[in-house]
Amino acid sequence: GAERTKNVLILMSDTGGGHRASAEAIRDAFQIEFGDEYRIFVKDVWKEYTGWPLNDMEGQYKFMVKHVQLWNVAFHSTSPRWIHSVYLAAIAAYYAREVEAGLMEYKPDIIISVHPLMQHIPLWVLKWQGLQNKVVFVTVITDLSTCHPTWFHPWVNRCYCPSKEVAKKASQDGLEESQIRVFGLPIRPSFARAVLVKDQLREELGLDPNLQAVLLMGGGEGMGPVKKTAKALGESLYDKEAEKPIGQLVIICGRNKNLVSTLESLEWKIPVKVRGFETQMAKWMGACDCIITKAGPGTIAEALIRGLPIILNDYIPGQEKGNVPYVVDNGAGVFTRSPKETAKMVAEWFTTKSDELKTMSEKALKLAQPEAVFDIVRDINELAQQREPANFPYLLTSSFTSLI
Ligand code: UDP
Repeated sequence: GAERTKNVLILMSDTGGGHRASAEAIRDAFQIEFGDEYRIFVKDVWKEYTGWPLNDMEGQYKFMVKHVQLWNVAFHSTSPRWIHSVYLAAIAAYYAREVEAGLMEYKPDIIISVHPLMQHIPLWVLKWQGLQNKVVFVTVITDLSTCHPTWFHPWVNRCYCPSKEVAKKASQDGLEESQIRVFGLPIRPSFARAVLVKDQLREELGLDPNLQAVLLMGGGEGMGPVKKTAKALGESLYDKEAEKPIGQLVIICGRNKNLVSTLESLEWKIPVKVRGFETQMAKWMGACDCIITKAGPGTIAEALIRGLPIILNDYIPGQEKGNVPYVVDNGAGVFTRSPKETAKMVAEWFTTKSDELKTMSEKALKLAQPEAVFDIVRDINELAQQREPANFPYLLTSSFTSLI
């Protein structure tokens, strides 16, 4: 019909690579499914409109994950609901006007949060504005199993859970069944819909056409024991007797520039490609036969879609821990922190144990949910159709600060 374009505001933060990837996945799926019906804004409202600590989540996150024990304490000590809700309410009150202005600038008909700390404050703002019944607010959880309780907020219209396990936690935390949907983790449509041919990709990416390839990475920040694992693979994938490689290695370091230069300065006996932040992950994964990574949910879900057996070599305590049994118990991969063991396993997969590689690949494909992102945007579209339009511009008078 002649309806106006609806505005969708996606709230994310550049902590790691996963939240941005999910946000962009949702944006792209909206465009594919609904074209001009929706105008999408992907924003880090905290960074743009608030002061410390909210505007520096990226910096704090990087600091914390580098000091893993600190992160562990932060994650678990903020788990009880009363602690985080008091903390977030205090911050909400302090930055109310800025965040309110920030949100309202986009005149959203729909707000989608893909971040564990972006429920409370925006939902308060909608309440102060009397917009709860006009603006659709949904949460898309991007952790596969052990997720932080700040993800669950009882005022949301929908909470999209990537797995049954997360859905169970959501209902234990007080969400109604009508609020919960389980479609899977949203992955960029370039993964879900692309038809990729391994041989062509290898040629396009400058890889050896005849050697099996292992992809080594560590999330958006290039974390985990990447260097040690690379060195071990450099040995294990070289057949000393035949004096030739039995496999090739692709290392994607993300935003970790030091790692790129360290790895580039090493000498290799096997073909190795060292890359920084890549925007075409679907292609690199499509060109490889297995993957070694920390237990990031985005990377795992993408690897499953490409049918890559996964060696998990690390996880961020708290939110990533549960991703390990998710992969291992479903037969799609293994967990080991030992670079030596990792290197040995890949060498075996590429020689004597190719059956094992094949079986795991099939299990990975079985677990994959490439259509999740489309199911999510279709459901959001339905929610939006049930609403009366939000009649912008709003009056910015009834803010929380003026109420207290
Ligand atoms: N990623 C990317 N380019 C890179 C490295 C990573 O696009 O060079 C993407 C990767 O495909 C995945 C995300 O960044 O979608 C990483 O998310 P994950 O949840 O695995 O880990 P995080 O970085 O959030 O800790």
